[in-house]
Amino acid sequence: MLADKEILLPLIEEAAAKAVEIRRDLHMHPELSGQEVRTSGVIAAALKELGIETREGLGKPVLPDPEYIKAVLTSAIAKDMLKDMGMGEEVLGTIDLSGLDIESMDPAAIAAMASMIMPPGHGVLGTIYGDDPTRAIAIRADIDALPVTEETDTPFKSQNPGIMHACGHDMHTAALLGTAMVLKKYADRGGRLPRSVKFIFQPNEEGTGGAAPMIAEGVMQDPAVESIFAFHVDPSREYGKIRFFPGVMNASCTDFKITVHGKASHGAHPNLGIDPIPCACDIVLALQTIITRKLDPASGAVLTVGAIRGGSTTNQVPDHCEMVGTIRTLDNESLEIIEDEMRRLVSSVAEGYGCTAETVIGELYPVLFNDPEVSEVIRTVAEDLAGPENIVNDNAPSFSSDDFAYFTSAVKGCYFHLGSTRPGSEEIHDIHSNLFDPDERLIKLAITMEVFSCLRLMGA
Ligand SMILES: [Zn+2]
Repeated sequence: MLADKEILLPLIEEAAAKAVEIRRDLHMHPELSGQEVRTSGVIAAALKELGIETREGLGKPVLPDPEYIKAVLTSAIAKDMLKDMGMGEEVLGTIDLSGLDIESMDPAAIAAMASMIMPPGHGVLGTIYGDDPTRAIAIRADIDALPVTEETDTPFKSQNPGIMHACGHDMHTAALLGTAMVLKKYADRGGRLPRSVKFIFQPNEEGTGGAAPMIAEGVMQDPAVESIFAFHVDPSREYGKIRFFPGVMNASCTDFKITVHGKASHGAHPNLGIDPIPCACDIVLALQTIITRKLDPASGAVLTVGAIRGGSTTNQVPDHCEMVGTIRTLDNESLEIIEDEMRRLVSSVAEGYGCTAETVIGELYPVLFNDPEVSEVIRTVAEDLAGPENIVNDNAPSFSSDDFAYFTSAVKGCYFHLGSTRPGSEEIHDIHSNLFDPDERLIKLAITMEVFSCLRLMGA
């Protein structure tokens, strides 16, 4: 049964009301990945007011592989990529990449240059020390918003044009602040915390990732995190449903870029050039055969070419064509096969057309694995709170990804979904939709789940 229910339930009630206010404030002031300055300030102020030890400025973006940066900097999409990494317009506007002789620079110099122009992180860590100050349970919330123009008619609609909390990270953040309020007040009133608790507010989830840098900056140490959990809102289910299962919960996510080089000529004299466009088209089609012919059919994987850029006018054969896309897998072995086959296939198709091609594979999010032991503890809490009929275990991993996977790669963890659609709603608005509007009652359920899961994981 639930520990110290009589003390905790009134604290949860009080914290949930405050968390709803915080959520509405965050919703009105959403910030893009890597630019979560105000959000980070709100979180830090709330933790400090509670008297919780607070570390700020965490999650400075990790730079991708130098070869990848080099490829990106040489391409026409360089500025878009830097923007995605969190660089603001004021800095971007001052950068002229046209005169950069990138080919003659060594990879370390490129990485150093990129590091200098990267913004700081906006992650926040709160720690409450328990009976054992060397061991901790961690709970994570992501804090960033999306480049989406809100079209809901909620009274606390986004006031930042073109930016919206369309993935519910405002709910995640507010709920975790509520949980921090409850556990701190509980400890202050003599409630027993056998372990310490860490509240990880992670930036840049929708961008280049904030989890890996926060881990590199030591958030999992001192006190050492034994296990971690997090939740995500889930509009595909009604409010009250709690969905998770042990094993793979979310796919890995790896982006790639392929550049096919040919030779330019007049469009009326293609025989005088080498056209990279038909070669690129062939590569797009051939890539799908990796999924259908090279992988175990039961493994499940997705490969999507999301953009093709080649040529600029009607009457010229361009000298190159580039493609970018994403790979999603449910296991690491499939990812290795896809990467190897992709490199081989791209260069041999290109050769067949008389072109050359290069494949650059970026490293993004690993497979998100729910540890059976931690999942079992959380299942017992969920059942006590919501009843077994409201626990959804469909064992159907999602091909979307979340960089919470880095935390579950580091320690035992669990990621669960909380249904966010109002019961009886006629239409469902998915996450990332401009009409996404979750049921706010979810905040109290989330705080309750977080408080009791945390206590049960530490054996209280
Ligand atoms: Zn999200």
